[in-house]
Amino acid sequence: MRIVDRFSKPGPVFSFEFFPPKTEAGIEKLYSTIEHLAELNPDFVSVTYGAGGSSRDTSVEVASHIKNKIGIEAMAHLTCVGHERGEIQDVLNRLEDVGVENILALRGDPPKGDDSFIAVENGFAYASELTEFVNQTGKFCIGGACYPEGHPENPDKEADLSHLVTKVNAGAGFLVTQLFFDNAAYFAFVDRARALGVTVPIVPGIMPVTNVSQVERFTSMCGATIPEDLLLRLNRVREDDQAVMATGIEWATRQCRELLDKGAPGIHFYTLNKSLATRVVYWSLQH
Ligand code: FAD
Repeated sequence: MRIVDRFSKPGPVFSFEFFPPKTEAGIEKLYSTIEHLAELNPDFVSVTYGAGGSSRDTSVEVASHIKNKIGIEAMAHLTCVGHERGEIQDVLNRLEDVGVENILALRGDPPKGDDSFIAVENGFAYASELTEFVNQTGKFCIGGACYPEGHPENPDKEADLSHLVTKVNAGAGFLVTQLFFDNAAYFAFVDRARALGVTVPIVPGIMPVTNVSQVERFTSMCGATIPEDLLLRLNRVREDDQAVMATGIEWATRQCRELLDKGAPGIHFYTLNKSLATRVVYWSLQH
């Protein structure tokens, strides 16, 4: 199933994001986590693409397993990092061979130790270029990333948005947002994108907090802000894992309810491969 076709059917589209573990044991554990998730009937599961090394090969393998063995629609992330066109084409061929027809086309972050992203020779500098390349094959449904609070590398929010328009025009049929904790940022962003003529679904990416230091680290890297009232509540319980998880679940559930009530086309859950919190949020949205 092409994910864009699912968006044209009634009802919110729910998806879960996982990353490919580095060991065989980790992969087996991930498969069993996703098998349990299948009972909840998610619309699709997405698999991230690592900055380099072995997890890249595993991305295709994991996406194939999810689609062909577990029976949930899969979306493979793909980045421009370190790849020239021929290598990207190889990955596309492999995805086509295993029947994965949905791709999240990304630029990727600069590799560890590098200050800025540098495209390889005969590679791609921006996600929009990768999107265009994949789109030209005519074989994949393509999604793209977007940033309600702006991409951290680009202080010019208007320019950032106009690059997003380019990415959509290059063939991104839907967008998934970076994580955020304040719905006002999402709604304002959607309004600004719509004003520029972006009509594709913009799916909120939600991550229930399960660990305070971890979320502080993530948000410092990805440019998302933690609202003061959430931070206050988390700080009161930061050493108590269960209380942190309960706070994270409660916050994310309220966020998702409001997003869906006010017209968001679905929810993309960032699971960090620990699906308990996202399962609880997802379950409570359906009951
Ligand atoms: P782009 O859309 O190319 O934007 C990157 C920057 O370039 C922005 O600042 C933009 O304003 C600027 N820009 C774009 N076009 C132009 C232009 N023509 N001229 C000048 N400036 C321009 N990373 C991974 O490594 N693996 C993953 O699996 C992964 N999954 C992700 C999933 C989601 C839903 C999200 C939101 C992010 C994910 N990331 C992943 C992180 C992502 O790779 C980084 O955020 C990266 O820094 C930007 O990727 P992008 O696709 O948004 O890039």
